[in-house]
Amino acid sequence: PPLSNLAVRDIETVLHPYTNLDTHRTIGPIVFERGEGVFLYDSNGKEYIEGLAGLWCTSLGYGNEELVEAAAEQMRRLPFSHMFAGKSHDPGIALAEKLKEIAPCEISKVFFVSSGSEANDTQVKLAWYFNNALGRPNKKKIISRLRGYHGVTVASASLTGLPYNHIDFDLPISNILHTDCPHPYRGMEAGETEEDFATRMADSLDALIQKEGPDTVAAFIAEPVMGAGGVIIPPKTYYEKVKAVLDKYDVLFIDDEVICGFGRLGTMFGAQTMGMQPDTVSVAKALSSAYQPIGAVMVPERMYQAMIDESKKLGTFGHGYTYSGHPVAAAVAVKTLEIYEREDIVGKVNAISPTFQSRLKALGEHPLVGEARGLGMIGALELVADKDTRRAFDPKAGVGAKVTAFAEAEGLIVRALGGDIIALCPPLVISEDEIGELFDRLGRALDKAEAFVSA
Ligand code: PLP
Repeated sequence: PPLSNLAVRDIETVLHPYTNLDTHRTIGPIVFERGEGVFLYDSNGKEYIEGLAGLWCTSLGYGNEELVEAAAEQMRRLPFSHMFAGKSHDPGIALAEKLKEIAPCEISKVFFVSSGSEANDTQVKLAWYFNNALGRPNKKKIISRLRGYHGVTVASASLTGLPYNHIDFDLPISNILHTDCPHPYRGMEAGETEEDFATRMADSLDALIQKEGPDTVAAFIAEPVMGAGGVIIPPKTYYEKVKAVLDKYDVLFIDDEVICGFGRLGTMFGAQTMGMQPDTVSVAKALSSAYQPIGAVMVPERMYQAMIDESKKLGTFGHGYTYSGHPVAAAVAVKTLEIYEREDIVGKVNAISPTFQSRLKALGEHPLVGEARGLGMIGALELVADKDTRRAFDPKAGVGAKVTAFAEAEGLIVRALGGDIIALCPPLVISEDEIGELFDRLGRALDKAEAFVSA
């Protein structure tokens, strides 16, 4: 169809994140106008199920009037107030209290940011600050995992373990290293059990720390289940083995809950489902159900104590964003957490995820799908050219992009991640019927993509 006026204006003016800038000039955007529940509507009135909760974030779906009201009320009362130089405001305090209460580990203080990238940048800086405070200026290296996703600012993009976030950006920066990705479907060797694979992954982390020198390694960062790297669920016993390695070398464990936090895996935090015992935690996205941009870093007491001493030297802790703890965002987050609790979002996930997972796993039989994997209300289909050998498609064929295009035509938004992996992460308020409709639409899109591939 010819491009709409809005599409033409978009092409002329907007530089899009994570977009093929070349093809966008001819294909143009889908322009969304409004949302309701799990549905989005574009400027032509076409309806879509939002199969990825925006970008893994709109857990309460669209049109939640309580969140709108929380924002409006705070905007009327105090639209902005910062937290620099000891200033504060009640929604910020209430949010810090709530996060401290529900955190998956013992934490002392909460530092506010506006995004997941800012949260993880802050984590890197805090790990460095902490070790300076302890008189360990050489203990600065941070280890993340290949295919881990931690954001796109300079330090966070360095943590991210995906080639297109590094190549051409001269990243990673120094002091950031990557260890193996615990991806059973791609990484497990013949005859290896999940436990053996977990041991091998932990041994490889141990070897990297040994090679670099334990006195130079400050922290390890991991998402409980990797999201944007391909929805990768580590093998059983992985985190307990990793934790033993980290403890041996006094390395901080940073838990990136930006996707898994707030019920996604069937517990309030992914760490609880996966048996992780982190020292610090990053959250964002579903913290406000994405109605406002807000994130947080949760800091344990021993880091806070060291930071007090260090801040005395320069008279200030020299880090913070204008919008650290923005009161409108904080008020919306407080309301979001209240709704999660009141509506028992964790119970809801446990009630609907069996349907979601069984419909997902059924697509594992589809000729294009090598593996259908997931946990709680997150899942992915890894598309392959050969189911027996697990041979991937030639990336240039763009098979994942074909599936998403056919899905959009069917009225479903999903995302193709690198390696032709179709990711699913719908709003947690989705009903059983809507889950059925989502998978019906996805099944038809896969059939059309298969016909296209075989033609
Ligand atoms: N960490 C994880 C696990 C993420 O999935 C993301 C974004 O997808 C980020 C960090 C970065 O968050 P943001 O895009 O808000 O900067």
